[in-house]
Amino acid sequence: MYNIAIIGTGYVGLVTGTSLADFGMNVTCVDNNAEKIDMLNSGKIPIYEPALDDLVERNVYYKRLTFTTNIKKAVEESEVIFIAVGTPPQEDGSADLHYVMDVAKDIATYMNGYKVIVDKSTVPVGTGQKVKKTVQNILVGRGVDYEFDVVSNPEFLREGSAIYDFTHPDRIVLGVESEKAEDIMKDVYRVLNLNEVPFVVTNIETAEMIKYASNAFLAMKISYINELANLCEKVGADVHHVAKAMGMDGRISPKFLHPGPGYGGSCFPKDTEALVKIGQQFKSPVTLIEQTIKTNENQKQLMVEKVREAMGELKDKTLGILGITFKPNTDDMREAPSLIILNELVKDGAKLQIYDPQGQKEGQWRFKDISNHMTFCEDEYEAIGNTDALIILTEWNQFRNLNLDRIKDSMNGNYFFDLRNIYQREMIEKKGFKYYCVGR
Ligand code: NAD
Repeated sequence: MYNIAIIGTGYVGLVTGTSLADFGMNVTCVDNNAEKIDMLNSGKIPIYEPALDDLVERNVYYKRLTFTTNIKKAVEESEVIFIAVGTPPQEDGSADLHYVMDVAKDIATYMNGYKVIVDKSTVPVGTGQKVKKTVQNILVGRGVDYEFDVVSNPEFLREGSAIYDFTHPDRIVLGVESEKAEDIMKDVYRVLNLNEVPFVVTNIETAEMIKYASNAFLAMKISYINELANLCEKVGADVHHVAKAMGMDGRISPKFLHPGPGYGGSCFPKDTEALVKIGQQFKSPVTLIEQTIKTNENQKQLMVEKVREAMGELKDKTLGILGITFKPNTDDMREAPSLIILNELVKDGAKLQIYDPQGQKEGQWRFKDISNHMTFCEDEYEAIGNTDALIILTEWNQFRNLNLDRIKDSMNGNYFFDLRNIYQREMIEKKGFKYYCVGR
């Protein structure tokens, strides 16, 4: 059994570390954000991810999981070191690798013997080799000659179901350059290996590419169904039936065929941008993904147009906003469609009453520039009260079964924008609302 260090205790690092601890490993989660580590050490979870709190508590109790800011000690005491820091987009769309490279330098500085350095962050092809070179250079500078391996092990979990995804993956991708590293990684994932999760073992470059290829494909699928939804609206077709019938074709699959206000989150927007950048850099453009990005930007604007067209002048209109996170079951608002849509509505002079079950804290700082035009409410009914329209932006379960009589009575207007298609037109119109959705 190996001691494992996870450097970067965010959505991916914390879930990876906690799940591996639950598989019986000794795991140290490291972060340079002392506030985050203090929170975790006092039993609080800095992010919202269903069921994560119980899993953290259990593994801390059994002393398999610890949290620290001391990267030196964690590196010295671990054989396997995961890099799980952020790789946010830079101005030009390419991935910012400085967090990954900082960690690589730290690992090299504190290495005291053989280590497997596992890159779990999503990184452009070639990063594994850069990490290798950086570590080698520092070891030479230190006058030491420790053996090490670099592995690419991209992560495919989804926020909101991260623990399930981590513990029940469709595949584990391992980009390796030595049998020793492959064997160690298979040992780290022994529980999943025993559960017959398929392992795809490749070289490092291929593993790095698999992650971008997968995410960009899913983003493209969403943009495709969004464009079809827009077309369905024009021709009188119902995109739900179109998507359902398409999905019955095993070659297509029903997943990621849900129309809406555009994809967001910490992965698809930045990973599509990064893949486009890599294509440009190697003069092998990925034009489908270039278009996917444009389509997605346009989709958010079209949602604003939908509201404008239906309601006319928005000045002094009050809009009830249900959901601001990029999807349900997370507090993450990175690249959420709400960021564009709400700013546009406020520009038109609308006042917003907002409720999100987990996104209010992040929403308050993300929308600080337009905070005079919005109120954060206690629940969905308060957000809807006395408004001219309600707009569902995120499909939290609790928004799927609203008391329609109650909200109709409490509203001044009767516009109902269901941008996640969670209601049936007939049901809403019967209550006297004007119903707008995406593609039906
Ligand atoms: P995050 O921003 O939630 O977490 C990153 C953490 O790394 C932060 O807590 C930060 O303080 C810490 N950090 C930064 N520099 C550090 C350093 N030098 N030493 C120690 N800690 C440091 O990011 P995330 O969402 O967990 O994403 C991490 C990576 O995983 C990204 O490359 C992302 O693309 C990829 N990924 C994310 C998801 C997801 O759903 N969030 C899914 C799959 C892959």
